[in-house]
Parts: sequence; structure tokens; C-alpha cells
Amino acid sequence: MTIVISAERLNIIYNHAESIYPEECCGILLGIIAGISKTVSEVIPTINDWQRTVSDEVDRNKNSRYTINPSDIFTAQKRARDLQLDIIGFFHSHPDYPAIPSTCDRSQAWETYSYPIISVINGKVSEIKSWVLDSDGIFQLEQIQITIYQ
Ligand SMILES: [Zn+2]
Repeated sequence: MTIVISAERLNIIYNHAESIYPEECCGILLGIIAGISKTVSEVIPTINDWQRTVSDEVDRNKNSRYTINPSDIFTAQKRARDLQLDIIGFFHSHPDYPAIPSTCDRSQAWETYSYPIISVINGKVSEIKSWVLDSDGIFQLEQIQITIYQ
């Protein structure tokens, strides 16, 4: 699969990632799936609703964990339906860490969705990589095509 996104929409993601740094940012992508391409029509930045639970083995915080609140996903689903779009993916950032999925990212992921990860180093976006689960449940890199059009 290829994820197609305009430079303008990509900037919304980058701005969100840099403004939330050093915490992880997250958000939802609405768009259209056609053949082997997924086109992003709308970027919805959300708050990082991650909260530490007593069962966590290590002391994590929002610098290395994110959760999208279910109510934000519900609102996005409703908006997608109204616009005749689908939720096509969920993005988040990795502050001072490469754009490679963590074990935690893997455990939270669902098939078919795209998971773009934005690496933010010293407060600046350094790279973006998009990931999608294959039929064996392994994250595979997905091509990102950046367009100048909407
Ligand atoms: Zn992650």
C-alpha cells in the first residue's frame, strides 16, 4: 500500500508533533482507500490521553507512550461517516527516537490501518515513516507519496 498525503496536510502533522514535543503527539487520519493507495483527506490531531497505570512495569510517561481517547476516535468515526470517508490510520511521534514501531505500538495496532510515526529530534521533525501490519502481524514499511495538491 501507498499512503498519499498533501504537503499541506503533512505540515499539520509536523506542526502538531513539534508543538507537543517532548511528549508524543497523536492523531487520526481520514481518507479514501482505492486500490493500493490510501489518500489522506483530513488530519485530526488529538490529545495524548495516556495515563500511567499501576500495572506498568516501568515508569513511563507521555514522552514514550500515547493513547488516543476512545471518544476522539468515536467523533472521528462520525465525521468520517458524514464526509463519506474512512479512518485510514493513526499517527504519533517519537520524541528523540527513530520512526520505528515499539513493542507497545505493535500491541496496540490493528490490521488495515496505517501507522505513520514521526521522529522528532531536539524539537524538530527529522523523518516520517508509515507502517502497516502484514498478514503475519508484522509491521512493514509503507510508501509515502507527498503531493502538492489537495
Ligand atoms: Zn510509538
